[in-house]
Amino acid sequence: MSVEKYVQINKNKLHSIQRRHPWIFSGAITHESEEMFDGDLVTVLNHQEQIIAKGHFQHATIAVRILTFEDEPINGDFFKRKIENAVNLRMDQNLFRKDNSICRLVHGEGDGLPGLIVDYYNKVAIIQCHSIGMHKAIMEIKDALVAVLKDNLIAVYNKSAETLPDRNISTDGYLFGTCETPHIAIENGINYEIDWVNGQKTGFFIDQRESRSLLAKYAKGKKVLNTFCYSGGFSLSALNAGATLAHSLDSSKKAIDLTENNVRLNNLEENHKSIVADAMNYMKDLPEEYDIIILDPPAFAKHRNKRHQAIQGYKRLNAHTIRQIRPGGIIFTYSCSQVVDKQLFNNTIIAAAIEAGREVRILEQLHQPADHPINAFHPEGEYLKGLVIRID
Ligand code: SAH
Repeated sequence: MSVEKYVQINKNKLHSIQRRHPWIFSGAITHESEEMFDGDLVTVLNHQEQIIAKGHFQHATIAVRILTFEDEPINGDFFKRKIENAVNLRMDQNLFRKDNSICRLVHGEGDGLPGLIVDYYNKVAIIQCHSIGMHKAIMEIKDALVAVLKDNLIAVYNKSAETLPDRNISTDGYLFGTCETPHIAIENGINYEIDWVNGQKTGFFIDQRESRSLLAKYAKGKKVLNTFCYSGGFSLSALNAGATLAHSLDSSKKAIDLTENNVRLNNLEENHKSIVADAMNYMKDLPEEYDIIILDPPAFAKHRNKRHQAIQGYKRLNAHTIRQIRPGGIIFTYSCSQVVDKQLFNNTIIAAAIEAGREVRILEQLHQPADHPINAFHPEGEYLKGLVIRID
């Protein structure tokens, strides 16, 4: 066999691979090469020793993340093809425009590259590796980005230290070019200062782009409270659309500073105020009346065993808000916990409505935008869901 490392799969565990699910759990492996290291490229064999896939190995519950179901080399060319395909998908969505220079370029399994996230901010690509195998391939990935994006790229930054299993595996820094931060990029006509070096995640929450646009349709002449605001996106969209006021709330002073800088950058300070507070506490007893309230908390459950607790959290937060918003008020409410699916989230909001004792109607059902695609064979890739509800 030309490839050194292999894993062999129990014949009773082949069905998930046959259905093209991109993960192999450690329990499905019957045999493997003698010395296996995290990040090794492995050939996946069935019980008859036929090659059925190739992927990145890790000593973990998800033992292999599949890159291909073909017998093909995983090299620079492979990454270039995948990244070209990913970029074309975003081009087809018309995400590279004069008034939009922010998008997710690679969304892990959704782009056939499990373990890899690449975010794009006005000619700068931020790579975030979630698997050691992807981290080992980072220079090939960087070369692919440079080759595919050409003049549309001035720098590539690696921000993987916080997303790999061990902080010492990777050192954050530039792999190609450099770019001073904060760096200005534009989303649907609104400018943002993006700081991938010091900011949360890769510096911005790209996945709420379409929800921010949707809010613009509701916000004219309204008073808006944007809780869990991070860099202020929802507040900016509301103010830009003619909201009479927007209040941005976050528990992090750093997030509030980002919001205020962005409000200033877009000349929208006049009707804006920030609040540094714990949203859970603040929403118990709202000191002001609002027409629209945004609830976009961080993932309350990162793991299945925290799901129950998370549900209680979402229920409490939403019940407080539903109880206090004025009649005719609108709530944009979200969950980005992957383990809380759409149905469970809807049920939780219904439970909150019952607890609050108000009339609640669902106006819109929301999910992650198309630059965060979901691989049809990997339903776990669906993580962001939201509802727009009207309370009477
Ligand atoms: N809506 C934002 C993204 C939200 S990310 C956007 O459009 O960009 C989640 C945010 O919640 C982070 O900024 C984090 O600092 C904040 N946060 C976390 N726990 C909080 C709490 N208990 N109260 C208020 N904010 C909180």
